[in-house]
Amino acid sequence: MEKLWTENLRKIEPYVPGEQSEDKDIIKLNANENPYPPSPMAEQAIKEFNADSLRLYPNANATELKQVLADYYNVKTNNIFLGNGSDDVIAVAFQALFNSDLPIVYPDLTYSFYPVWCSLFNIPYKTYPVDDDFRINVEDYKEKNGGVIIPNPNAPTSIGESTDFVEKLLEYNQDSVVIIDEAYVDFGGESSVELTKKYENLLVTGTFSKSRSLAGLRIGFAVGSEKLISVLEAVKNSYNSYTIDSLSIKAGKASILDDEYFKETCRKVIATREYVTAQMREMGFKVLDSSTNFIFATKDGCSMKDMFEYLKTKKVYIRYFSIPRIENYVRITIGTDEEMAIFLKELKGYLQK
Ligand code: PMP
Repeated sequence: MEKLWTENLRKIEPYVPGEQSEDKDIIKLNANENPYPPSPMAEQAIKEFNADSLRLYPNANATELKQVLADYYNVKTNNIFLGNGSDDVIAVAFQALFNSDLPIVYPDLTYSFYPVWCSLFNIPYKTYPVDDDFRINVEDYKEKNGGVIIPNPNAPTSIGESTDFVEKLLEYNQDSVVIIDEAYVDFGGESSVELTKKYENLLVTGTFSKSRSLAGLRIGFAVGSEKLISVLEAVKNSYNSYTIDSLSIKAGKASILDDEYFKETCRKVIATREYVTAQMREMGFKVLDSSTNFIFATKDGCSMKDMFEYLKTKKVYIRYFSIPRIENYVRITIGTDEEMAIFLKELKGYLQK
């Protein structure tokens, strides 16, 4: 018989991230990681890091990193919030900003962590279906709600919407907090950071995990009005004062200061994405127009689940979601040109089977 105390344990279905592997031979295209190393300036900062300083707690406000981000986005430090990856930032935002009895709203096809946080924090939610082309219809978002969250570009569809779309969303939602999750914006999306100066209820979140190749350091941020940021800080400081460690502060700062390397890395990922998209279309795939570091694709008459499993046996890991509407799609992270050449070769091998 189960012990009585087990009744009090939290039962929750967690989010499952892309599989990690110790095998160095794997072509890993399943977690939207960047195939290029972090900026040499960030690497230098890590090498020069004084381990002795780890005796001390980090600066709880991570001011040094906030300052470079504030300069980068042309805002003040009290318009910036930092967290342990943007997952942490968004989790804090859900707790801090979504406290209505009305449901929060987001698209049916989107980042699958959102319903997990809703469940964890007891936040009611409602989804609006994206259309047959996987586009979000802004007119759906006119109904009264407890808050809005939309990734732009969206994941896993890879489709980006314009800042006009976001302004319309804000026009329709003046009584709610609107969060735009910009995890992938640097790969060709339109950022709404400027709009945070005009709309006090807009929070834009971002991450160092994708375009800055620092997924392992866990740095996420949000830009928004002083009002929103102060509430995020209050909630964060109610559960963990030190979400950004001393090493992340130094390496994150160096990464922001190396703008040239950042732009070059994004440019390379975009160029490879466009090449792979064209190649796959030639092979008969339907590939959505991506504004991210991944592509979302399907092929008529071909099982994407089977293809995903086949590629795994060839040590090429991509992502498959068994989710209604997209059960015959795969998400492929853009790797280096060499990695993508192997991916395309194995893909051809699969089609010729
Ligand atoms: N938002 C979206 C849409 C994502 O796909 C991810 C990555 N899984 C994140 C946020 C979080 O990324 P991180 O915590 O590494 O910043």
